[in-house]
Amino acid sequence: MSANTFWGPDFEELQSQDPQIAQILLDELNRQRTGLQLIASENLTSPAVLAAFGSVLSNKYAEGYPGKRYYGGCEVVDQAENLAIDRAKKLFGADHANVQPHSGASANLAAYAAFTKPGDKVLALSLAQGGHLTHGSPVNFSGQWFEPIHYTVKKDTEYIDYDEVRSLAIEHRPKMIIAGATAYPRLVDFAVFRQIADEVGAILMVDAAHFIGLVAGKAIPSPVPHADVVCFTTHKVLRGPRGGMILCKEEHAKAIDKAVFPKMQGGPLMNAVAAKAVVLKECDTAPYQDYAKQVIKNAQALAAALNDQGLRPVSGGTDTHLILLDLQGIGVDGKEAEKRCDAAQITLNKNSIPYDPQPPMISSGIRVGTPSITTQGMKEDAMVEVAALIAGAVKATDPSTSIEIGKKVNQLVAKYPAYKRA
Ligand SMILES: *Cc1c(COP(=O)(O)O)cnc(C)c1O
Repeated sequence: MSANTFWGPDFEELQSQDPQIAQILLDELNRQRTGLQLIASENLTSPAVLAAFGSVLSNKYAEGYPGKRYYGGCEVVDQAENLAIDRAKKLFGADHANVQPHSGASANLAAYAAFTKPGDKVLALSLAQGGHLTHGSPVNFSGQWFEPIHYTVKKDTEYIDYDEVRSLAIEHRPKMIIAGATAYPRLVDFAVFRQIADEVGAILMVDAAHFIGLVAGKAIPSPVPHADVVCFTTHKVLRGPRGGMILCKEEHAKAIDKAVFPKMQGGPLMNAVAAKAVVLKECDTAPYQDYAKQVIKNAQALAAALNDQGLRPVSGGTDTHLILLDLQGIGVDGKEAEKRCDAAQITLNKNSIPYDPQPPMISSGIRVGTPSITTQGMKEDAMVEVAALIAGAVKATDPSTSIEIGKKVNQLVAKYPAYKRA
């Protein structure tokens, strides 16, 4: 495969300096272009974002905040950070934005650092039912330094059990309540969480890592008016560079800024900060709003078509970009389904479903998302074919069937190329 205009002249430099890594970049570009990308937490960011991300801003140390740095020579990068902050505040209607967290997990750690002390109780969705590692897993700081209390989803509807959230909050009086998850397909009722937090005097942290892009595109309601603090990643539906961000009320601005730096991080990644500014500008446009709405329409069409193929969408469907599928009806476990899909060039992940009888490393489900395929331009009509490919791959017991499905995958995505050549 030849060098691509997309990578620009610097790519030729890389090819001559380090052909091994250059080839890996090309192979990964090829993988992203030829397979079906259905990981719910991934997207295909724009060449403009990639240009800012792979830039000389990576060279600059800028510990501190614009106008208050610990290093000289920050007047140029200050402008990038100020633009990112102003754009975030405008786009989300937030009092304050911190654009420095290196990732979603770092943003969450900063919220813990700002509002809690080791040993404090934190109430969040159960990991087994869609919560994130940073919401109290025993292998994560959140489970080791804090006392996690977990709410669940209802067995019958598979929607969050808000009565249980309230009763656990009253019983345990947590310092912080976390709303938002990593594998929950439904809208979260932030107003109810706000009421519960107020009843017990807790901080309400919304972990919007997955769905903030849908909020940015005005396709679903915003947590910003309700939450004390909203933490998120910039690389999921939002479609920006890898990174994290925090929005909060004015009263918490100082605590959040101090928690990010110097409590938790050193120098910010100014190339990432600039790339975050680029994506925030992209999000504040009509085409991005159309994109966000299409992501949901595609997910709903895909959920219905998968249901027709015997793969049951948990909670009966989705309000967002992701679908959690229960495979028990077709007798394939999540681990095996992920492997079979990989063999057909369909990239998705195994995932526990609520009340899963299998351990997490096996699981009874898979998670799929529509951010990447919607970026590629697919609409509802393509979802029937995508569903047939997924179902065919999951049910394929013979490796030759997987290879045949892989060829159909290549043909479908060729009609919707990622990173079109100029
Ligand atoms: C993805 C995710 C994170 C972590 O983001 P990283 O950038 O991988 O650290 C945190 N919380 C939730 C709910 C997520 O989905």
